[in-house]
Order: sequence, then C-alpha cells, then structure tokens
Amino acid sequence: MTPFDALSTPVYRRLREGLDRIGAAMRADQWGLAEDSGLSPTQAHVLAFVAGRGAKGMRVRSIAEHLGVAQPTATESIAALVRKGLLTKASDPDDARAASIQITGAGQEIVRGIGLAMTSTERALETLSSKEQTMLLHLVIKTIRALQIAGAIPPQRVCISCRYFRANVHDDAELPHHCAYVDAPFGGRHLRLDCNEHGEADQGALDQAWKAFSGIAYDLPMSA
Ligand code: SF4
Repeated sequence: MTPFDALSTPVYRRLREGLDRIGAAMRADQWGLAEDSGLSPTQAHVLAFVAGRGAKGMRVRSIAEHLGVAQPTATESIAALVRKGLLTKASDPDDARAASIQITGAGQEIVRGIGLAMTSTERALETLSSKEQTMLLHLVIKTIRALQIAGAIPPQRVCISCRYFRANVHDDAELPHHCAYVDAPFGGRHLRLDCNEHGEADQGALDQAWKAFSGIAYDLPMSA
C-alpha cells in the first residue's frame, strides 16, 4: 500500500483524460486536412466512409449510424458533397423510397489525398516502438469491441468479428493468425479496423475468435 492508492483516481479515468487530449489533437488534424480540401470535418468523414465501402452504394441512415451523427447532419453533408461533385445520389435499386450514395472519381481523389497526409497524431504514434504500436492496436481493438457490445458504436469491420479470421492457429509467434479470405497467415501488426473484404461472423465463431484473441499476452514494460 502507498498513500497514492487513496490519492489516485482510477486508471481508466486518467486514461479517458489522456484519450480526450489525444482526441483534441486528432480533431485539430482533421479540421486542418478537411479545410485544405475545402471540406468540413463531417463532410471529410462522410466522404472517407463512403469511399471505404467501394462500389456499393450506401444509405443515408447507415452513413449517419456509422459516423455517430444525426441523420439531418449526414443529409446536409451529403447534399454539400453532391453539389461539389464528390458524391452522387441515385434511387436505391432495392428500395425506391431510399437513396443510394456513391463516391465519384473526384471524391476518390480527395480521400486519397487526405489518407496519404501524415497527421501530428500519426507522427506521435510513430515514435512508439513497433511492439508498442502492435500492443496499442490490440488494446484499441479490445476497447472498440467493449464499446460495440455496450451499444455505444455500431458494428465495425474489424478482423476479430470477421468470418475469415482464424485467431492463433499458427505456431509462428510473429504470424499467429490466418485470414481465410486471402488464405495467408498474419500477425497482430496486420489486424485491420476497417476491411473491405470483412464478412460478419456468426455468434459461435465470433465468441471463439474473441476467446483466442483476448488470450494473447504481451510483455508489459513495467509492472501493472
Ligand atoms: S478478410 Fe479482412 S477483416 Fe477478414 S480476416 Fe481477412 S483481413 Fe481481417
């Protein structure tokens, strides 16, 4: 025991405070990148999200849900992007009452430019060792899953919820997982947060993958 046990706030609370500060830097980055492209941050998010869905048209509701914004906000941003010629809006072939939103070639160009720009947050993360980056990626994925289970964020296209993901099936410590889609082994550093080839796993496979994934231990550099 040390007096610090009584004096300290819970670790998760200080983590939230730290993440708030990192989030502020990321928002400033996003403002800068979006502004350089003549977009608002929400427009940049909408554009990147639709671009990530490939040729598949997206519905306004689904865009709003994934980005965690109100539907009128998403509608307004989409309308502005359509006016700029970065998105197109057509009737959804599956539902005449709904609109299908797709990205144009000019929209793809903007997203490529934003995606390639190095942000101050990325530069800071780059200062971590590759092992630390992999550990952090693992912990971020665990936190995203907890948020998803709590209903705070919609399902994400991450490897651990993918039907092609096989956790810890190889003896190679560097490449313990397997992606059945490309039929190749891969490691923790390759785990994806938003994969175009993602296919939702059924509950049984998901529980099994999660059990294997969450059992992965990392050597922490100091005592917990
Ligand atoms: S298809 Fe994509 S999300 Fe699924 S396991 Fe392979 S890399 Fe991960």
